Amino acid sequence: MSATQATERKITTAPVLEVFASIQGEGLYVGEPQVFVRLFGCPFRCRWCDTPGSLALPEKPRARLDLSGGRRHADGWASPFQAATWIASAESGSRRTVSVTGGEPLQWPGFVRSLRRFVAPRRVHLETAGGHPRALAQVLPAVDHVSLDLKLSEDLDPPVPLPVEEPEQGIVSTLDAPPVGRLEWAQARAACLFSLRGHDACAKIPFSGNHPASRYAPLLDDVAGIAAEMPVVLQPITALPGAEGVIAPGRELFDELTEMALSRGLHVRLLPQVHRSLHLP
Ligand code: SF4
Repeated sequence: MSATQATERKITTAPVLEVFASIQGEGLYVGEPQVFVRLFGCPFRCRWCDTPGSLALPEKPRARLDLSGGRRHADGWASPFQAATWIASAESGSRRTVSVTGGEPLQWPGFVRSLRRFVAPRRVHLETAGGHPRALAQVLPAVDHVSLDLKLSEDLDPPVPLPVEEPEQGIVSTLDAPPVGRLEWAQARAACLFSLRGHDACAKIPFSGNHPASRYAPLLDDVAGIAAEMPVVLQPITALPGAEGVIAPGRELFDELTEMALSRGLHVRLLPQVHRSLHLP
């Protein structure tokens, strides 16, 4: 193996938390049978995070693999080729769209960018928190759909950046420092929306009853001003057991937010997390 090939192999490796087949529970492709590749590592700290086990990067990550032959575990550091073999084994016969999720998958842009050539002709979808615009721009040519979260900065505790370099693997884990505060999040949001103009993508706005509808106006304004054709999915936050201080949104907020989106000419729909109500992973 040449030095270039060895380096390429290192920067395309990512820590896989789990691989499983299910239905897409959120966003524009809700209900579609997909295979999910969930990666470890997220620098953000959403107060209503529904995958808290994915945030930290363990010293020795282990992948949980729900394959058609049953569950097994393996070393989590995986190349796109290794992930593709797990994806094929998780499908029960027919090929499915592959959803790369997290954590924050854009911590591992080399992996995301390389995956498609190993899983083709499957589609590759990306779910991202929208805090890494440079990494997003890098991977865009290699993903078929992006589900972009638009978050309120006040819903996030201070970020906890991942190590820039993972010593054993020599992996550069991210290209962007996580945004902090309202202004940096607004800049990241605008840059992500700009990159996604004309791409198959949706803007997903998780919302809770903790904030008035008016607080979400800048998010909707940005979509309308930068990527007006992008569908908007308003997603009521599902408060997990033990989540403190998260207020479930009610009918009044549903109506206000929907009207705010419609009045800006946006293509909007309101969708809860369907996989939660069906008790699916
Ligand atoms: S970005 Fe996603 S994984 Fe990270 S804290 Fe927020 S909800 Fe959790």
